[in-house]
Amino acid sequence: MRASPLPWPVNGKGSLKSCDPADTLGFRDKRAAKDKLAADIAALSDLQDVLSAGAQFGVLVVFQGTDAAGKDSAIKHVMSGLNPQGVSVHSFKQPTDEEVRHDYLWRAAVALPERGRVGIFNRSYYEDVIVVRVHPELLAPEFAKQATKALWTRRFRQINEFERTLVENNIVVLKFYFNLSKREQAKRLLARLKEPSKHWKFSAQDIIQRKRWSKYKSVYEETLNATSTPWAPWYVIPADHKRIAHLAIADVLVRRLRALRLAYPKLPAEMRGTLRAWMRQLRKEA
Ligand code: AMP
Ligand code: MG
Repeated sequence: MRASPLPWPVNGKGSLKSCDPADTLGFRDKRAAKDKLAADIAALSDLQDVLSAGAQFGVLVVFQGTDAAGKDSAIKHVMSGLNPQGVSVHSFKQPTDEEVRHDYLWRAAVALPERGRVGIFNRSYYEDVIVVRVHPELLAPEFAKQATKALWTRRFRQINEFERTLVENNIVVLKFYFNLSKREQAKRLLARLKEPSKHWKFSAQDIIQRKRWSKYKSVYEETLNATSTPWAPWYVIPADHKRIAHLAIADVLVRRLRALRLAYPKLPAEMRGTLRAWMRQLRKEA
């Protein structure tokens, strides 16, 4: 059993070709995978409780991946053990007119989680080095003319600095790339078309983007290499099997949260006497 996906290398030399989208991470049977996921979801729930009590750290979870890669389903399943009061989910769509007038990091900045909370980005500022790179016509007009390598290099630097600022301010940044195979995407899109209750999820864009599959893969690979850093490494999640994807994400979240050695805030010594007095009083009333 090898549940833990390794972080993407930070030396800029990783290759997506060596990442199998159908990898089962050593899990042969469904039962073992199910048990591991359930155990990690329970652990996450406890960790979130201490996280919100201490409010020392916040957690930003970034989900990137193509259409039908399983981002929504991961949010639904992996986060099912979390207390909704301490979590926010933000989905990034094509920018609004107001968002376009700002720098591209602005809409992400205003949606960031505070310390004590978990914030999930369903897509993120990474769209601004991915979808707009494949389709430069989607860039704000003043950048459309200069959509050259220099622009992407500059944005990679800005993103790395943005994330470093977050991490240095106790906002942990956990980034997941859902690595889906082209064949599995076809199956999932087909399922959407066949099932009327899933039609709403289908977008003509899905077919248009699918035509640029290999361009997307190479843009993703370059992005992972440029933005996997010691402070915010990427995790590439095998996405063809949903349960495996979920357990891989849960495993990383649990390991990274445990590493923070979170603790409940301690009561100041002088308060302990007061607490005992309150207890005596409540016992009489209970
Ligand atoms: P979905 O995730 O299916 O709701 O689709 C959201 C769409 O918005 C995707 O096609 C994204 O590529 C697109 N999108 C998100 N952010 C940006 C951006 N900054 N510029 C252009 N398109 C974006
Ligand atoms: Mg979609």
